[in-house]
Amino acid sequence: MSLIVVGTMAYDALETPFGKVDKIVGGSATYAAYAAANFVQPVQQISIVGNDFEEAILDDLHSRGVQTEGVEKVADKPSFFWSGRYHLDMNSRDTLVTDLNVLADFNPQVPESYQGSEFLLLGNLMPKLQKQVIDQLTTRPKLIVLDTMNFWMDSALDDLMVNLKLVDVLLVNDSEARQLTNEFSLVKAARKIMDMGPKYLIIKKGEHGALLFHEDSVFFAPALPLEDVFDPTGAGDTFAGGFMGWLAKTGDISFQNMKTAIIVGSAMASFCVEKFGPQRMQELTKAEIEARIQQFVNLVQFDIELV
Ligand code: AMP
Repeated sequence: MSLIVVGTMAYDALETPFGKVDKIVGGSATYAAYAAANFVQPVQQISIVGNDFEEAILDDLHSRGVQTEGVEKVADKPSFFWSGRYHLDMNSRDTLVTDLNVLADFNPQVPESYQGSEFLLLGNLMPKLQKQVIDQLTTRPKLIVLDTMNFWMDSALDDLMVNLKLVDVLLVNDSEARQLTNEFSLVKAARKIMDMGPKYLIIKKGEHGALLFHEDSVFFAPALPLEDVFDPTGAGDTFAGGFMGWLAKTGDISFQNMKTAIIVGSAMASFCVEKFGPQRMQELTKAEIEARIQQFVNLVQFDIELV
């Protein structure tokens, strides 16, 4: 099985209550690829980078089974740049800067060698560009998952609504689900969003876990209570990469297996927040991943005998 990942590869400037970095590698596709490659190879990356993007990161991704034929390199412009500041709760943040740079002229091209991929993860990116990738695929993937954020709801809502009709799973956080539907109740919001197109909906709630909706069913995955959370940047993309990586590894897109996949996504996201940027993802071992997933199982497993 192979997985196509589309999204940004970027530099970020981050400020959390625990520290500050002026320039660290980031981007939705970077985080998603780091997470997914632990489960499935090849990960077929589609993105764009500028003249400042470190070759060492691309080499590191290659070594993990990430193909970068679909990553365009622009010689005369810098990479996409994003800057954010987190509030004390670490769940909410303010975007300080979004410099599109190379992204402004991005015209994603699906390499011939990526055709036939059964899984497509449309990471956070301009909705028009996400659609351009869907349109180029000669065979519809078995599963298309779309991640987005408030920035695109504010600036490209019509394009996003078109995409919702084309995808199977939508990933948003709780405030984005509310923004999209004008509903406070996440159950009502979920119903409305599934009426917009996607058959499955995942609502991420930061340190409060994630909800998976499908028809009248709902499943909850907790977030692991962590002693240290340094930087939540990329947690959503890492979740998406882990979720999709698991589904692509197993080839099973049933609701039952999606439950496991959101636990895997949550486990991967729990690593991501432990250090700034993708550092923790870069040093992760298979044994650590297995142990962390087991911690999730232990967290929610209990016996009960109903009288
Ligand atoms: P997350 O914390 O999962 O929402 O993802 C944060 C990452 O998304 C950062 O590394 C940013 O470079 C990237 N990012 C921020 N804003 C955008 C945007 N409007 N479109 C695509 N990627 C973005």
